[in-house]
Amino acid sequence: MERKGRRLVLFPLPLQGHLNPMLELANILYSKGFSIYIIHTSFNSPKPCKYPHFSFHAINEGLSESETSRIDGHLLALLNTKCVEPFKECLRRLLSDVSEEPIDCLISDSLFHFTRAIAEGLKVPRIVLRTGGASSFLVYAALPLLRERGYLPLQDSQKEEPVVEFPPLKVKDLPVPPVTDNRAPTSFYQIIDSLVNETKASSGIIWNTFEDLEQSALTTMRHDFGIPIFPIGPFHKTILASSSSSSSSSSLLIEDQNCISWLNTQTNKSVIYVSFGSSAVISETEFLEVAWGLANSNQPFLWVVRPGLVHGSDWLVPLPHGFLENLNGRGTIVKWAPQLEVLAHPCIGAFWTHSGWNSIMESICEGVPMICTPCFVDQLVNARYVSHVWKVGLQLDNGMERGEIEKTIRKLMVEKEGDEIRYRVSKLKEKANLCLKQDGSSYKSLDSLVSHISSLESFNFQAQRP
Ligand code: UDP
Repeated sequence: MERKGRRLVLFPLPLQGHLNPMLELANILYSKGFSIYIIHTSFNSPKPCKYPHFSFHAINEGLSESETSRIDGHLLALLNTKCVEPFKECLRRLLSDVSEEPIDCLISDSLFHFTRAIAEGLKVPRIVLRTGGASSFLVYAALPLLRERGYLPLQDSQKEEPVVEFPPLKVKDLPVPPVTDNRAPTSFYQIIDSLVNETKASSGIIWNTFEDLEQSALTTMRHDFGIPIFPIGPFHKTILASSSSSSSSSSLLIEDQNCISWLNTQTNKSVIYVSFGSSAVISETEFLEVAWGLANSNQPFLWVVRPGLVHGSDWLVPLPHGFLENLNGRGTIVKWAPQLEVLAHPCIGAFWTHSGWNSIMESICEGVPMICTPCFVDQLVNARYVSHVWKVGLQLDNGMERGEIEKTIRKLMVEKEGDEIRYRVSKLKEKANLCLKQDGSSYKSLDSLVSHISSLESFNFQAQRP
């Protein structure tokens, strides 16, 4: 790293769906002339060799293998306690380096809520990156009220009822913890409360979203939160600082490039891409329903079965003997895919997703319609927005059942309803491209972010250098 300029310290949460956008943001801010310092945990460490233009600083948070075996609220709570001391030490060291320019601000993942107290103690302004959508964040912020009004905890008899404060959400769309998170739901809501409170107490929030997608939520936030809001997404489409830096290079698993060769042999817009992201877990029964639903749909499919996806099972072991062979090449399974490349491939016709925010943004940017099976937390809200607000996909409303899967795939890929959905997503793709162009909303918001950071610098200079 040669550049000597205004410095930013970024602190990503070590989960795939958080690392990707934070490193994309790092590239964007580097292209605006900042020097980038990344403090990261040893668990799920990013690969510094892929980012020679950044300065990486590892902390040893001391998480054991068993503590990181499941991605749930418990892991988040551990990260927010075990990182405190090593992070503080590392940030203090960076701040006290007088041979360098002062640090303009810390950009922390919103789920690292402990960073607020540290930043305040060290007198460094703290901006937060929220890697999820703005609409789901408003629901998070309203959870205490929604609980008070009796929507939660979720009662089976109420789950189809509307949430009148958040149309078109139904009670079953309200955020719940992962099923594998067997701690009391209270601690899940405590984590969300801390996330919301410490985010609102920041010097600004950066969003991987754009005005035309979430205008209503962004307007509400500007009105209610009293801090600057910067929707500068879609990050991965923003012109990157260095042509060698690809957005997907922060992948923690090895991307199987063979699926691209397989896609090259398929016909245009015929393939359904199936991936449930980096942390969702499904049961063996659900796994088999997905397999048979895909097989019976008669559409070609590319399916990401991440090791650990099926609860208690080894990779493909539960699949019936000869399952793939009997499909004569109509389907292929990989452990991890180069998702951005896959979604941009002309043969992809639909994306069956768990509705993680990055996946939704990536799909919209390529104009790929979706089938949504949300698993937990914000995914439930995201899925309802896909199917009922933007109307760029369908939701598997009654869980994973082979008949329903087959029917939904056919509806999207073959029937007239699919044509309308495809048209709408192609329009949204155009808007996603336009907002990044000069004078587009995200382009202007990025300029405001840069000015905002610079104004923090002058405020901060004296504080750091007594
Ligand atoms: N991803 C990938 N290959 C895969 C599956 C996912 O590169 O086979 C990437 C995807 O492009 C996205 C991220 O992993 O950027 C997943 O983030 P998302 O918010 O969709 O879901 P999460 O993993 O956080 O649940």
